[in-house]
Amino acid sequence: MISNDRKRVRRGKILKELGLTPVWRAREHTEDGRVPAVLESTEVTAAPVVAHPEFEEQIEQVCVGSADATEDVTEKRRATILRMDWDQLKESVEGCVACRLCNSRTRTVFGVGDPDADWLYVGEGPGAQEDALGEPFVGQAGKLLDNMLMAIGLKRGHDVFIANIVKCRPPGNREPSDDEAQSCEPYLARQIELIKPRLIVALGKTAARNLLNTDASIGSLRGRLHQHEGIPVIVTYHPAYLLRTLVAKAKAWEDLCFAQSTMQALKAPE
Ligand code: URA
Repeated sequence: MISNDRKRVRRGKILKELGLTPVWRAREHTEDGRVPAVLESTEVTAAPVVAHPEFEEQIEQVCVGSADATEDVTEKRRATILRMDWDQLKESVEGCVACRLCNSRTRTVFGVGDPDADWLYVGEGPGAQEDALGEPFVGQAGKLLDNMLMAIGLKRGHDVFIANIVKCRPPGNREPSDDEAQSCEPYLARQIELIKPRLIVALGKTAARNLLNTDASIGSLRGRLHQHEGIPVIVTYHPAYLLRTLVAKAKAWEDLCFAQSTMQALKAPE
């Protein structure tokens, strides 16, 4: 029989491994109606977050059982997400506290567009404007992306879904770290399963890296078809890069034409 103290210590270790410490628990409302937070764990490794109730039971189970507990929780969380429907997924993203990015975000950015789209565009992560509005690609880079879509006869919201590798803004517009991207991966995986796009366009290095599991440069990846879970992927430059690097625009145009002809081929009857 494992004592409650041992369970609590073990649970703390697992939550720490998952980047979920320290754990704050809401007390009853105070007289002035506020809900103060109480720190359960004394160990402060990052800004505080609240453990998501959805995963509480799984964490609890693992705490009393298996040897490789952290891996178990991560896998169970992924399995839970991969069973969600669209609305559950949205709700789960909104409440997500699986990595440190939740501490600095204003809003989560689930993605925008047609959940039955043939086209899925994947960027890196929200910037300041996206974080404020909860929608991807609404800043300058977003305007350019809209123009890129228009150039091949597409429009945001119509047969296109736009998402990011991470759903929360990395502070200071830094790239998401590998562990942040890893924590967010089940959400995009489930979005892809539910949307079932015919073609994915990876915008920039972070998208290509995470979708294709490669560190190769955009220059070496563009111009040919790749695959993610059996779905064709085309890699092109990130619109923010194109804003800074005008000479790359001609190449991006080639990539768009390649994407358009690929889609035509994918839609053509056998
Ligand atoms: N850059 C991205 O990669 N995604 C956004 O949503 C905005 C800027």
